[in-house]
Amino acid sequence: MKKSQLIMVWLLPIIVIGGLFIPILGYLVVAMMAFFLILSFFKGRYWCWNLCPRGSFLDIVLSKMSRNKSVPRIFTVQWFRWLIFVLLIGFLIFRVGNTGGNLIVLGAVFVTMCLITTIISIVLGTATKHRAWCVVCPMGLLQEKIGKTGNKKGKG
Ligand code: SF4
Repeated sequence: MKKSQLIMVWLLPIIVIGGLFIPILGYLVVAMMAFFLILSFFKGRYWCWNLCPRGSFLDIVLSKMSRNKSVPRIFTVQWFRWLIFVLLIGFLIFRVGNTGGNLIVLGAVFVTMCLITTIISIVLGTATKHRAWCVVCPMGLLQEKIGKTGNKKGKG
C-alpha cells in the first residue's frame, strides 16, 4: 500500500456515496479520466498502481477479504477485454446521450457508472483476486494502449 493510495482512496466513497446525494461529484470522475488519459501517454498505467481511488480501495480493503483465487483466463484475452470496453463505453455513451443536456443528470451518470463498476469490482475481487476488475477495466485497457503509443513515440 502506498501513501498516495491512502490519500486517493477517500475519493471513492466521496463519489459513489456522496455522489448519490450530490450528483455533480460525478465530474470528479470526468476530471480524473482527463488527467489519467494524459498521464498514461507518458507513464502507462502509473495511475492504476499509485493513484486510482478504486484501485487503492481494492489494494487496501478488498485484498483482506479476497479468496485470492486465479482470475478467469478469459479476462486476459484481448478480444474479451475489448468486448467489456465496447459494452461499458457504449452504455456510458447511451446514457450520456439521454441526459438531454442536463448537467446534473450528466454528473449522476458518471456517479452511477462508477458505482456499478465498483460493485462489479467488489464481487470479482472477493470471488477471485482483489484486483480482478483491473484486468478487464476499460480505463485500464485504454491507459495500457495509450502508454504503448507514448513509448513508441519516445523511442522513434
Ligand atoms: S484498471 Fe481501472 S479500476 Fe483498476 S486501477 Fe486502473 S483505472 Fe482504476
